[in-house]
Amino acid sequence: MKLFSTKIRWYQLVRPLLPAAYTALLTLGFMSKSLPYMIIILGTTVLGGAWFCGWLCPFGFAQEWLGKLGRALRIPRLRIPDKADRWLRLTRYILLGLSFAGFSVILLAQSPYGSFMGVINLNTSFITQTAWILLASFMTASLIIDRPFCRYFCPEGARYGILSLTRIFTITRNEKACVSCGKCDKICPSQIPVSSYRHVRSAQCINCMECIAACPVKGTLQFK
Ligand code: SF4
Ligand code: SF4
Repeated sequence: MKLFSTKIRWYQLVRPLLPAAYTALLTLGFMSKSLPYMIIILGTTVLGGAWFCGWLCPFGFAQEWLGKLGRALRIPRLRIPDKADRWLRLTRYILLGLSFAGFSVILLAQSPYGSFMGVINLNTSFITQTAWILLASFMTASLIIDRPFCRYFCPEGARYGILSLTRIFTITRNEKACVSCGKCDKICPSQIPVSSYRHVRSAQCINCMECIAACPVKGTLQFK
């Protein structure tokens, strides 16, 4: 069973460790909504993109690894057609708007993210039947679709995505060195056409660095 590409980069080893550490901190009572924490997360997102989604979020991590499992089991992948992808992306912004409009309690009660956190904290008493069905559906869909909840339905991801649009540090492509092989486009879990950008400033980018790892021409893609 092959869960990694043959050449492993340091960030591919570090990235899985951080959501586990973050989950442990949450379990020990770390207040993820405290003001200093929020300032650090939001500030670094404005500077360097939605790294929370790619480096800390436990539910994002679970979806990513289910995707790796699906690949390892050779389950055919479903790539959402580009037009449908663009429309579906709007959903998370609508959900973000609804949460600002006073529906956050209702949304949170059905949220697969909240349910997933309940499961790993061994506290499932609050999870409704609908929330169980949604959680199971997204976990199953993750076997064939890259991060389906993050990309289309996560209001938190939408917020970080909007904040990241003017990011200073980002994935940068050296157009002269690029051989237009399209490997970066194919590997991107957010279906971003990386090879058509000079600087990736998409709200969908989660700084996973998989495009850099996949690029066959060293130094063509860099985070800077
Ligand atoms: S593969 Fe590259 S462009 Fe796509 S989400 Fe990851 S870092 Fe961003
Ligand atoms: S993987 Fe590298 S060489 Fe290939 S298209 Fe992307 S940036 Fe260009």
